[in-house]
Amino acid sequence: MTQKRILNLIFLGPPGAGKGTQARMIQEKYSIPQISTGDLMRNEISSGSSLGNRLKSFIESGGLVPNELTLSILLNRIKKEDCKNGFLLDGFPRNVEQAEELEKALNGMNTELSGVIALEVDDSDLISRLSDRRICKGCGDSYHLQFKKPSVDGKCDHCGGELYQRRDDSEEVIKNRLKVYHEQTAPLIDFYSEKKKLSKINGKNKIDMIFSEICDIIDKLKS
Ligand code: AMP
Repeated sequence: MTQKRILNLIFLGPPGAGKGTQARMIQEKYSIPQISTGDLMRNEISSGSSLGNRLKSFIESGGLVPNELTLSILLNRIKKEDCKNGFLLDGFPRNVEQAEELEKALNGMNTELSGVIALEVDDSDLISRLSDRRICKGCGDSYHLQFKKPSVDGKCDHCGGELYQRRDDSEEVIKNRLKVYHEQTAPLIDFYSEKKKLSKINGKNKIDMIFSEICDIIDKLKS
């Protein structure tokens, strides 16, 4: 009998690179949960909890939420039962300290990272992608006003949910998010490359082509 391989994956890339779109497709194909720290934080804010209130100002400015808060949110999530065969992190880690803490936590759980997939897209494309991005309130699927229009204006093709624009997808906040990415998150490319965990993908290609390249990488990690 072949043993089921645990798949602990990270999607790395600037905001708007397509991590969320690809992560949802991978979640479906490989039955591992997509874990977006941004989604977890936005849910916390919507719930009106005191933690949510602390997170709000960081997110609205486009800066990073402090590591201590972020780590506790992430670690609580990956300890859940549905992560026992693996998970796909989207938006975490965002700096080297988070990456080191994740490594320690996985060691403590007798598991390890399987691989890191980096989606590469130029800043000029990201600004247009993000400012015209609309997200479904129901299922989190994302659309683009020019390149991936919903069939009915303002409604999600999959679940009929209402589409909205994230507050941090305004041009000024986007510029700050990209600055933060280059200063704090991009160094993770070298960090994971040195650990021989990194695979790079051109995030400018068509969604289906990127998906098939990612599946090839994952299939190799599984074999
Ligand atoms: P995202 O949905 O991944 O674009 O994240 C939206 C915002 O949530 C970011 O701009 C940060 O303010 C916050 N955030 C998400 N993930 C992290 C993380 N790993 N570390 C710190 N802040 C984060």
